[in-house]
Amino acid sequence: MRATVMYGAGDVRVEEVPDPRLREPTDAVVRIVRSCVCGSDLHPYHSMKRRDRGVPMGHEFLGVVEELGSEVSGVRRGDLVVAPFVWSDNTCEFCREGLHTSCRRGGVFGGGQAEAIRVPQAAGTLVRLPVAEDSALLPSLLTLADVYGTGHHAARLGRVGPGTTVTVIGDGAVGLLAVLSARRMGAERIILMGRHISRTDLGREFGATDVVAERGEEGIERVRELTGGDGTHAVLEAVGHMPAYEMAVGVVRPGGVISRVGVPQYEAAPVGFGSLFGGNITLTGGPAPVRAYIEELLPDVLEGRVEPGRVFDRTVGLDETPEGYRAMDDREALKVLVTP
Ligand SMILES: [Zn+2]
Repeated sequence: MRATVMYGAGDVRVEEVPDPRLREPTDAVVRIVRSCVCGSDLHPYHSMKRRDRGVPMGHEFLGVVEELGSEVSGVRRGDLVVAPFVWSDNTCEFCREGLHTSCRRGGVFGGGQAEAIRVPQAAGTLVRLPVAEDSALLPSLLTLADVYGTGHHAARLGRVGPGTTVTVIGDGAVGLLAVLSARRMGAERIILMGRHISRTDLGREFGATDVVAERGEEGIERVRELTGGDGTHAVLEAVGHMPAYEMAVGVVRPGGVISRVGVPQYEAAPVGFGSLFGGNITLTGGPAPVRAYIEELLPDVLEGRVEPGRVFDRTVGLDETPEGYRAMDDREALKVLVTP
């Protein structure tokens, strides 16, 4: 089969690889119907050291179950299913707490930008989708694999609810879906910090009440002006670089929450009196256990109340996946959908 493989920074290829096979009785093999390029795929695209054996890419996919191990229950051959970007058994104590990203038998997918994939812990991982393989809902359903669930996680950990004021930092797919999620949870005011107008326009349609294009001290100043000097109850940080963290500290209201879902590209950050402690600020966030949220988020997608798939603004065939990376990296595309 064909699969997307990265050999080093800027070097993505589509090549023939062995077909995936069942290895464990808990595995399934899924034929991929839709996958996509993630903002987090761009980190290795910038920094990966050259290697002789490439790394299979892609952790967001939906597809049709082709083969099932003898111990897999709950899904059948021919089912259209979505997988979260982390596989999990959905039964261990962490999964029962809703923390599937820490599953004792879990792991992170690679190889989703391909024609097919082996899914470990298939019974716990795969969620059946009650639509046909050619449904117009596929792009929105695919966002349940990562970006919509991640935006939801940001808002949930940010304790967003009716009456809450929220700042979302970042106008990538996750930031925009954090806006949608905050709106869905009843936030009263949502300030989106981002400077790509086509993206912040979509953010407004998803529920942002204000857009702040300025960054750094100027951006902080602007959010403070909009909130009577106090900042917002919740800050959802969907970038991961230090300047975004510094802005989050600058715009959070005393007693508020900074919820990070952008993968931090730093280890050390201010947490002392002048940054978090003095204002009783809560710092939270992490990789989203999206498996815990799919059943909750699915009905609104199926019934068209939300359309998170609007973050996809380009579609490529599998053979053009390298072009999809380039387009996202050059900010020509917000998020690239891949069809087989
Ligand atoms: Zn588990």
